[in-house]
Amino acid sequence: MTIIANVLEIAHRQAAAAGAARINRVVLEVGRLAGIETDALRFCFGAARNGLSAEAGLEIRDVPGRGLCAGCGAVAEVSEPIAVCPACGDVLDIDGGRELRVLSLNVD
Ligand SMILES: [Zn+2]
Repeated sequence: MTIIANVLEIAHRQAAAAGAARINRVVLEVGRLAGIETDALRFCFGAARNGLSAEAGLEIRDVPGRGLCAGCGAVAEVSEPIAVCPACGDVLDIDGGRELRVLSLNVD
């Protein structure tokens, strides 16, 4: 719930800065390793959408996890926050998939 409150605050601030009266759509980027249930996000968005137009929608873009190997330089898609390099077995540094950000807004 807190996450969506923050998202809506950012959305409102950006819409106000753009001089927009209405938010039609919020596009969120959510990393697969961010530990966020997108179903819960959608539910909370529906419950906390005060100030948005009734038909405002939430679009969630899923960002795959990405690990970088310091040992051999390989880049691999990962589904867990701790993963090993498929090429050499070193522990990967996670450099993608933990994001949660407002990617764009569609406003009037
Ligand atoms: Zn490696």
